[in-house]
Amino acid sequence: MARRKKIYEGKAKILYEGPEPGTIVQYFKDDATAFNAQKKDVIEGKGVLNNRLSEFFMTGLNQIGVPTHFLKRLNMREQLVRSCEIIPLEVIVRNFAAGSLSKRLGIDEGTQLPRPIVEYCYKDDALGDPLVTEEHIAAFGWASQQDMDDVLSLALRVNDFLSGVMLAVGIRLIDFKIEIGRVYDGDFQRLVVADEISPDSCRLWDIETGRHLDKDVFRRDLGSLTDAYSEVARRLGVLPQAAPTKPTLIN
Ligand code: 5GP
Repeated sequence: MARRKKIYEGKAKILYEGPEPGTIVQYFKDDATAFNAQKKDVIEGKGVLNNRLSEFFMTGLNQIGVPTHFLKRLNMREQLVRSCEIIPLEVIVRNFAAGSLSKRLGIDEGTQLPRPIVEYCYKDDALGDPLVTEEHIAAFGWASQQDMDDVLSLALRVNDFLSGVMLAVGIRLIDFKIEIGRVYDGDFQRLVVADEISPDSCRLWDIETGRHLDKDVFRRDLGSLTDAYSEVARRLGVLPQAAPTKPTLIN
């Protein structure tokens, strides 16, 4: 069998050269890391769940006209995506206070924010992905003003979509992180949602019980990560053997 060319290996995924020019195979690993890889473990089945969940969210976004890099799922752990140039920013959208926002501003976790708040972090593991402003982004040339207008609009559309999908299965979308890539069609560039959307990159709380169904289960030692991710997949009807839950009635 021909050996594939590895392009990049990150903490949770490996990227291989795809079968056609302009494509990449994204392989989801079982590795879990937190606190800039100071905490590490291998969680059996996590990669399979994230591959399916990211496929589910990216397909939905494509269907409502929010462009993503996703082309198709290839197998249990791999998906074919468009190759793109990643803007070196983590784009974070928050609906409720949690995590670093709660710590930074002293706001109790779970407090509803007056409106969605979008933050940008510079993607640099050695620096611990520091929070940056649009001033830094413009001054250091990481993205143009036009790009940033498009990034903001994509981030808010993803937020509306994910919040609605989650609400329908009794889950509150507290916050999430996305990455945005540039794809080139001839002389034109457009921005697409890239990387992955999964419980690794979102905070998801059960509406009734407040149970954490995301990577905080691993970060904060709250129990089984695969149980939490499987619960999200089961409610969304993503697991092959899963029966969707009864819809949650909201007054
Ligand atoms: P916080 O800034 O509160 O730590 O994170 C905000 C949101 O972005 C959370 O949903 C968190 O999971 C996500 N997030 C922030 N940084 C990263 C990262 O480096 N990797 C992943 N997968 N998610 C991140």
